[in-house]
Amino acid sequence: MNKMNFPGQQIGEFSIMAISDGYLCAPLDLLSNIDPVEASRLQQDAGISDPSSIHINCYLVRGRGRTILIDAGAGGFKQWGGKLIANLALAGLQPSDIDTILLTHAHPDHVGGLLDSSGGAAFPDAELVVQQREVSFWKDDGNLSRASERARGNFLFARKVFDRYREKVRTFTDRDVLPGISAISLPGHTAGHSGYRIESDDRSLLVWGDIVHFPQIQIARPDVSIAFDQDPVLSAETRIKLLDVVSSDKMLIAGMHLGELGFGHIKRKGTRYEICYEA
Ligand SMILES: [Zn+2]
Ligand SMILES: [Zn+2]
Repeated sequence: MNKMNFPGQQIGEFSIMAISDGYLCAPLDLLSNIDPVEASRLQQDAGISDPSSIHINCYLVRGRGRTILIDAGAGGFKQWGGKLIANLALAGLQPSDIDTILLTHAHPDHVGGLLDSSGGAAFPDAELVVQQREVSFWKDDGNLSRASERARGNFLFARKVFDRYREKVRTFTDRDVLPGISAISLPGHTAGHSGYRIESDDRSLLVWGDIVHFPQIQIARPDVSIAFDQDPVLSAETRIKLLDVVSSDKMLIAGMHLGELGFGHIKRKGTRYEICYEA
């Protein structure tokens, strides 16, 4: 695909582009509830050449007078991603053009890109919109004291990001986020993990955040969770319910780890599902 030609969709008044931040690396043994041989076979059957590579997407949403970014990629955290700003420039945008950032959740591969290389705000003019439970969870000292060493780093990083955007953070508690855009609670992956539904002129798109990390495995087998899911049982329940809804409603979906094409439909196949990408 031509780099300038990012995958895009028009939803009524909104134009949406999938903008890549690059990749992160995670071994398949972080998955639970699946035999590693079956996990590898699902990857192989889908033609995946590098089985531990996870693509990181952000979504640029323009319409109703706003320039919105949904999530900001890893920004080079742990050498993950870091391509967002360069790719936005290829799309003709500077960081100061972004007026709103909607966060699906505050894991470092979604908020890392909010900080520049000197630790300042990478999007100086953007309001940061996030579910209240997500902010409360990461700021809670009790949660921090119970966290594993790996998760501790995530707490400190999320706190640093919220602090840098302090005056610009707007939290929400219900569905209403912006005209034409509503939040959908998708619990389990993190405390406030949220999808965003964009609706205009009888069309809609659901950006589902981290419902899957390995789409070829977890869409086929939605009962498979990953170590990044704070609550693996609840996140599997959420994934199973959501795949049922989006396949029945033939809903256009997007996700942060959905692969390079960035948009798709989910089809039911017996008790399993498959993704059909929208090129
Ligand atoms: Zn996540
Ligand atoms: Zn993620």
